[in-house]
Amino acid sequence: MDLNQKGSSFLSEVVQASGETLQACYQCQKCSAGCPVAFAMDILPNQVLRHIQYGHREKVLSSKTIWICASCYSCSVRCPNNIDIAKIMDTLRTLALHSEFKPGEKDIPIFHSAFLDTIKSKGRIHELSLILQFKSKTRDFFKDAALGLKMYRKGKIKLLPSKFSGGKEIKEIFNAFEKGART
Ligand code: SF4
Ligand code: SF4
Repeated sequence: MDLNQKGSSFLSEVVQASGETLQACYQCQKCSAGCPVAFAMDILPNQVLRHIQYGHREKVLSSKTIWICASCYSCSVRCPNNIDIAKIMDTLRTLALHSEFKPGEKDIPIFHSAFLDTIKSKGRIHELSLILQFKSKTRDFFKDAALGLKMYRKGKIKLLPSKFSGGKEIKEIFNAFEKGART
């Protein structure tokens, strides 16, 4: 089977964006067997690779799996063909964000974006800013409120971000990255 022909443009798109030769996958399933969050996925990591080979763009980009993946790299170190599956998952998340498909997990992409916005504006993570931004985007204000209060009482959530001297450099990194992504 000529996977390049069979998989059409989606396979080429993922190969080009990730730099990974995922045509080499021969479905041994070692990646899925070692994935700690496979139980929560709608398609297993080895199946993701197969769907890409077959050009199933919507199936992959609207899956829960790409957002459930915790980027732990267990799959990448287990693959006998040295395919970096974690890197492919990362590539798929980026493609999904720029695609016409609704994400398979609604809240996780919002959390990713709120997390990065907080790092960019504060220079490091500040849980309260992250929670407020996440809640304002999901408009789900009361879920986990009791847990949040408990964490605040235990001093796990600070009202003000801690002082950090490298904030300017962090902003410059974000700006350089965003400029590079636009060109
Ligand atoms: S471990 Fe590698 S070769 Fe085996 S199924 Fe996963 S990606 Fe394919
Ligand atoms: S990187 Fe993602 S897909 Fe790979 S083992 Fe970890 S959680 Fe599973």
